[in-house]
This record gives sequence, C-alpha cells and structure tokens, in this order.
Amino acid sequence: MKKGKVYLVGAGPGDPGLLTTKAREILARADVIVYDRLIARRILQELPKQIVKIYVGKRSDTHSIPGQDAIPRILITNAEKGKIVVRLKGGDPFLFGRGGEEIQKLKEAGVSFEVVPGITSALAVPAYAGIPVTHRKYASSVAIVTGHEDPKKSKRVDWEKLATAVDTIVILMGVSNLQSILESLVQGGCDIETPVAIVERGTTKRQRVTVGTIQTMTAQALERRITSPAVIIVGDVVNLQKELSWFKS
Ligand code: SAH
Repeated sequence: MKKGKVYLVGAGPGDPGLLTTKAREILARADVIVYDRLIARRILQELPKQIVKIYVGKRSDTHSIPGQDAIPRILITNAEKGKIVVRLKGGDPFLFGRGGEEIQKLKEAGVSFEVVPGITSALAVPAYAGIPVTHRKYASSVAIVTGHEDPKKSKRVDWEKLATAVDTIVILMGVSNLQSILESLVQGGCDIETPVAIVERGTTKRQRVTVGTIQTMTAQALERRITSPAVIIVGDVVNLQKELSWFKS
C-alpha cells in the first residue's frame, strides 16, 4: 500500500500571491486539505475539484474549535489510508498556529510529515502597511507576541518586561485586549507617545491601517470599530508608515 504523508503548510497572510512555490506544488498534488479560518478563499478555489477539503477552523458565531485531538485524528486517519494530506494554516504554521502540537501527535502516531514554512502575517502585514519592523536608525530588535492570554496557558507574555526590552513589538490576536495590553506596556516603562499602528485584514483588498500612539489608540480602535484579524505594531518604526505606505487596497 502507498504510504501516506502529512504536509504542514503555511498559506501566507492573505494575498494568494504570497503562497510559496513549494506550498503551491504540494497543494496541487494533495488528496486531502485540512484548513483553518484566514485561508484566502482564492487559494482553495483554484485547486482541482477532486481534492477533499475539510474546514476545521473556529465557527465565527460560537468561537468553538473542534476538540483538541480532533484535527490530528483527521490527519492521522487519512495518512494511514495512504493519502497525501495537507494541513494548511494561515501565515506560518509554527507561529501561533499550534503547528508544533499537531506535529507532535503525528510523530507519536508514527506518521511521516514535512513542514513548509509560510510568510507570516507578523512580518508581511506590517510590510504591506509600509512599516519595516527594523530600521538601522529606529529599531534593531523586534518581538512577536500573542495578545490573547489564555489563563490555562503555562507561558504567558510578560508585558512589563517586554515594554523596554525590544524596539518594535508586533502583537497578533491582540485587538480584544488592546486597552489592557497598552496599559501594561506603559506600566513597564513605554512612553505614552510611542507610535502604534493597527493593520486589519493586511495584504488583502480590505486592508485598513490606523496610526496613533499608545495614548490615543484605544479610543481610535473603538471609534473605527477595529476588528480581528489585525496586527498591532508598537514602536518608532510606525512613524515611517506615512512615508513608505505603498499598498493600495
Ligand atoms: N500563523 C499565523 C498567525 C496565527 S494567529 C501567521 O503566521 O500569520 C492569528 C492572528 O494572526 C490574527 O489574530 C491576527 O493577529 C494575525 N493575522 C493573520 N492574518 C492577518 C491579516 N491578513 N491581517 C492582519 N492580521 C492577521
């Protein structure tokens, strides 16, 4: 019997042009694709009809996700049937995508796998907004952190330490905790005038950029009804946005 395999593949941040050549090639010869929310519809639409496509993302109304083991089980069952399975995730699969956990389950089950890194929203979304996350004059360090604090998680973000440890802070999943995140950064020593940008639906036709400061951003976010998915960028590099903005959505 043909041996199956699972490819853990990054789909990039939204613009289908940001899918890697390797990802495209593997998708085209997949038997089964198991995908999340935030995968550009066009990527899936362009694939051969006979590929089985299984959606395992959150339901937008309930925020429910399939039980923790449900996804690995789908991957393992299909691979054991000899299928080429693609586990397709937004951005890069190892950055806040639970890719590591899923791969651990495959390893335990003795299923062979490969990882295809993707272009992460953490870097591409600022880039499409005209914000380089480092710059010789303004930033020589950058941290990528989650703004979604699961109380059950063992590793939490130490916002106060982070505040002065790096020049640029890129926050994913941070919109619903925006106010408390910004307050913690100020408690940790960030100046309230520090520039902040929020980029919603980056790299897509509906990209929207909001620029302000730590002091102003909470009110701006409310007023503009900022919603997820969005990347928050904190640091002096945000000031370059005005000059370097290039992407017309
Ligand atoms: N693995 C993904 C991140 C998954 S966490 C990656 O590497 O990009 C999901 C978060 O990513 C969202 O809450 C949001 O903060 C960010 N995100 C993903 N796509 C985005 C987009 N097109 N625009 C803005 N933020 C995005």
